[in-house]
Amino acid sequence: MLSYLKDNWQAIKEKVRDEYDISSLLFDTWIVPMEIYDLKNNELRIMFTGESSDWAINYIEKKFSLQFQLTIEELTKQTLSIKFIPEIKAGDTGVFQRPDNSQNTPVYHVSNIDPKFTFDNFVVGANNQMAHAASISVAENPGREYNPLFIYGGSGLGKTHLMHAIANFIYKNRPNAKVLYVTSEVFMNEVIEAMRNRNSDSMSYIKNKYRSVDILLIDDIQMIIGRAEQTLVEFFNTFNHLYENGKQIVLSSDKPPREFSQLEDRLLSRFERGLIVDIALPDYETRMAILRKKADNDGYIIDNEILHYIATNIKSNIRSMEGALSKISSYSKLNPGTKITLELAKQNLKDYIDPENEKKLTPENIINVVADYYGIRPEDIRSSKSTKEISLPRQIAIYLIRIMTDDTLIEVGNILGNRHYSTVKYGFECITEKMKESDELKTTIEILKKKILA
Ligand code: ADP
Ligand code: MG
Repeated sequence: MLSYLKDNWQAIKEKVRDEYDISSLLFDTWIVPMEIYDLKNNELRIMFTGESSDWAINYIEKKFSLQFQLTIEELTKQTLSIKFIPEIKAGDTGVFQRPDNSQNTPVYHVSNIDPKFTFDNFVVGANNQMAHAASISVAENPGREYNPLFIYGGSGLGKTHLMHAIANFIYKNRPNAKVLYVTSEVFMNEVIEAMRNRNSDSMSYIKNKYRSVDILLIDDIQMIIGRAEQTLVEFFNTFNHLYENGKQIVLSSDKPPREFSQLEDRLLSRFERGLIVDIALPDYETRMAILRKKADNDGYIIDNEILHYIATNIKSNIRSMEGALSKISSYSKLNPGTKITLELAKQNLKDYIDPENEKKLTPENIINVVADYYGIRPEDIRSSKSTKEISLPRQIAIYLIRIMTDDTLIEVGNILGNRHYSTVKYGFECITEKMKESDELKTTIEILKKKILA
């Protein structure tokens, strides 16, 4: 049906004109700029690409909807209701509203900023403390202190949460500020769409949209920096424009700026003059605190034992932890009165936590995998030898045991041949630091993690 209407749109317009004796002036002004937008539940939406005031839309609605309805009915034997809508430009996310007649309507609103992600419900731990502090500071003083703010870290660790928290905070405290949050995908689609249209209007619409804001937040920019050429150029230009005008920019990414080979030096140095902060994997305490907070906020009553089970077995992605938690809570909603025991929880969480992996996550197993990878013996790792060939794998084992199990520094020390906990702490910090500089080490750690979980 929709494709029939689209294919015959010109003919339908002309039929309306001829049957209802519409003058060529009226036809050119009002009917030519009509485009089919979509068809849902028998409602045909026609987009009017001419003057987009409420008045104009009301006018064509009154004047032409019946004619279109009857003409389409005659052609297709179907009665559709007809609705006229103002023009929606490519990829319009609704943040930038075209100005309408009422003076009081703000041009910007925050429809795509999620009110549920705030600073209040963000749990601060050692892994995200810098990123959190920097975000607060930017929210309080946009464009002043850290510009751009660049937040990077793995998936599901809270980058998007912090970006929305900044936007919500600014929106609340400075209602007149123009805050725009977009995902890279939206940004990219808009640019590509505008290019495809080869339409200077759509290009200038994009320029206008992105360059007139006070605070621009772009999420997951690895998608832009890693890819489409034209999008990258548009991003550079937008960035430079805002930067030079002292507007706040907040970016998130899965890796630090230095790891983007496509980034031109000038931009890299601008990023580095701002503030680059990372979000690392949360430790056990932070994971428990996040689960507790989430359970409390959502009114779930759930035993600590079960939270502990989730927090010990899901470590690298908070989103999955939350998924596991809501799985349990839906189970209890569907089975009122059933007490959720640990066994029941385990059964329910099979898709999240593989009972096999659960068993394998022991310090011994981690030591074995690391030793095997470096071609040394597990005893070497536990020994007091301090040659380079052994001390790096040992530090890596310490690091992995710390992030993958709940053993305390003292326990890890005992497992590694009765080492003092300060040695363990030192080893852990060494690897954390080295990982910041060495991609190779990071890759190694990733490979080892996979092997341990395999
Ligand atoms: P990312 O953008 O880094 O992939 P998100 O910001 O989407 O991750 O976070 C995934 C989920 O985890 C969200 O529901 C978010 O609210 C939650 N989350 C992440 N970090 C925290 C935290 N520190 N405190 C509370 N919730 C968090
Ligand atoms: Mg995200």
